[in-house]
Amino acid sequence: MLTCNARDTWKQFLEYVRKRTSLTAYENWLVPIQVLDVSNGEKFFLEVPNVFVKAYLLDNYKKDLCSFLPVDASGEPSIEFIYAEQLPKKQSSPLPSTPIQEESDVFDVKLNSSYRFDNFIEGTSNQFVKSAAMGIANRPGRSYNPLFIHGGVGLGKTHLLHGIGHFVRENHKKLRVQCITTEAFINDLVDNLRNKSVDKMKKFYRSLDVLLVDDIQFLQNRLNFEEEFCNTFESLINQGKQIVITSDKPPSQLKLSERIVARMEWGLVAHVGLPDLETRVAILQHKAGQKGLTIPNRVAFYIAEHIYSNVRQLEGAINRLSAHCRLLGHEVTEELVENTLSELFQPGPKQKVSVENILKSVATLFQVRVSDLKGTSRTKEIALARQIAMFLAKELMQESLMMIGASFGKTHSTILHACKTIEEKIKSDEALKRQIALCRRNIVE
Ligand code: ADP
Ligand code: MG
Repeated sequence: MLTCNARDTWKQFLEYVRKRTSLTAYENWLVPIQVLDVSNGEKFFLEVPNVFVKAYLLDNYKKDLCSFLPVDASGEPSIEFIYAEQLPKKQSSPLPSTPIQEESDVFDVKLNSSYRFDNFIEGTSNQFVKSAAMGIANRPGRSYNPLFIHGGVGLGKTHLLHGIGHFVRENHKKLRVQCITTEAFINDLVDNLRNKSVDKMKKFYRSLDVLLVDDIQFLQNRLNFEEEFCNTFESLINQGKQIVITSDKPPSQLKLSERIVARMEWGLVAHVGLPDLETRVAILQHKAGQKGLTIPNRVAFYIAEHIYSNVRQLEGAINRLSAHCRLLGHEVTEELVENTLSELFQPGPKQKVSVENILKSVATLFQVRVSDLKGTSRTKEIALARQIAMFLAKELMQESLMMIGASFGKTHSTILHACKTIEEKIKSDEALKRQIALCRRNIVE
């Protein structure tokens, strides 16, 4: 049994501290601490939500703790910290849910109905983050907290965030979930400031069990809102409530205060990478299937080879193809794809350009032999083609003039001279400029 003494002592300590700290800090850091039944005049057993609350308490109040609580032989407060996770669950629901107030109308979670785990295609680039998201959804507040998902545009961050939202709503019905974009959070705050209802808003956010925040990068340069966000964040996390955040960059690259960056790094930081070719094909086939479109695998590979940095664009491709097929009754063939999608296609990832490639391309286009280009012939056509090859080599290869010269068996000043000559020529010769552009494309794509 918790002795009255221990309980009273803790109460007195809290009263003392309450007068010396801000209400927010008090509510976020001290209120979540519970005195456990076994505490007595010799030792205190405190249940804390996480290691940060313990650190906060000891860093800020060690001296005061020594005045109020029992002290051990080395003069330290005699406290045993127990993390909430180590204790048996108090109820079957993974989180102690806050009683729901009559505001279910405000409590409107906007989740995209197609962003669910079961239609998120897994591949090596997103396997880790997907399992982390599913882990969170299964046991909100009890695995990684916060989960911070970052990665480029159109790679499925919002999809996973909403996936967590759907799963929690369906499997942990008692939990209060809110999914918001950072913009919406800021707008909400502005509205509430205007209506002098910030306290209501604070109460609302702090009563959530799971908070899903999309695109935190929009909090950058919004100084006034950073603090309120950080307070909400601390309040929730210290009550063991789950937070998931998405961002286009990792926490350390966000221009936000050190305090908030550190908080975001507390839990698990997971990266969504670019999907590899097989995953892109699987995504294409999945999206096509949803639209009732049949794409031969060869064609799916062809599309996936050319659209590789953004899943949203893969979806765009499918939508366009599907419209063509529906409206014009076409079959999906490589030709149709070439005609309808070529402007969506991205230039291939740059391969390392070699002198041999350049020579081959120039030789083909200007109808000379590679051996002529390497030789010393001074006929007009060959000399021009050779100079073009040197010009392209300087432009496309990350090599010094000396190295390029050596590959051509020439001095670096010959290369420089060739470059200047071609630069001059293309100023006035449009046809030559176009030929060179064609050649360049042929080399890099
Ligand atoms: P982000 O938030 O990272 O910019 P989104 O989550 O909005 O990207 O994803 C863009 C689109 O691509 C969405 O329609 C989403 O459903 C889809 N998408 C992204 N990754 C996948 C995936 N692995 N499987 C299925 N669809 C995906
Ligand atoms: Mg997004």
